Amino acid sequence: MSVIAALRNLQRVDSQVRALSTRLDGAASALSSREREVAAAHAKLTEAESIHRQLQASAKNLEAESGSFKARIESLRVELNATSKKSQYDIILGEMGTLQEKRDELDSQALEFMTKAEAQQARITDATAHRDERVRRRDAAKAEHDQRQADIADRLAELRREREEAAIQVPAKELALFNSIADEHEGDAMAEVIELSARHREYTCGACNVELPPRSYAALISNHETITCCPSCRRILFLDLAAKAE
Ligand SMILES: [Zn+2]
Repeated sequence: MSVIAALRNLQRVDSQVRALSTRLDGAASALSSREREVAAAHAKLTEAESIHRQLQASAKNLEAESGSFKARIESLRVELNATSKKSQYDIILGEMGTLQEKRDELDSQALEFMTKAEAQQARITDATAHRDERVRRRDAAKAEHDQRQADIADRLAELRREREEAAIQVPAKELALFNSIADEHEGDAMAEVIELSARHREYTCGACNVELPPRSYAALISNHETITCCPSCRRILFLDLAAKAE
């Protein structure tokens, strides 16, 4: 087998491997984007829950503070009932009034925080529903990815073996060149030479359509062991000799 024939065989198997891998990559990237959506929805829910906890804690602290004011008022009431002096009585009563005002203020702040916490609870419910919906979508993407992987795993393994066998037939230097051009052009490493006019010796690259110098064609027709690349796109050129024979 000539180098060109070995390369064409490699190109054929290589493009099949790439096409199949691309199908799998598509499912894998769909899955990972669904995973990111789940993570984002989860973070949003966690944040909503944390705000809710802070609001509840603030309300609780204010209630506790109000409770301690209440205890002080109660003890002043005991003092008040025990006192017989009018001046002392007025002082205690005044102090009780001040404390009660502060207590009312704390109670109204606590109520405000409780109201906010209730509104926050509604946001948690929404965020939970959103997260659950994202999880369902992710699970569907995962099922599709796993199914696709199972469907094509055997065929892909078979093709990869075929590709290895085809690669063995190509000399190391040409193989390295092929791999580098294949990576550059998403697997499309070879291009057929198109004859525009034999009389005028006009030939173009079948991939990028650039006109080829006559010496490229001459080299290809005379020697099947040398590699000629398109001067524009770098693809390895070949002649369709069967077509040429007709
Ligand atoms: Zn080209």
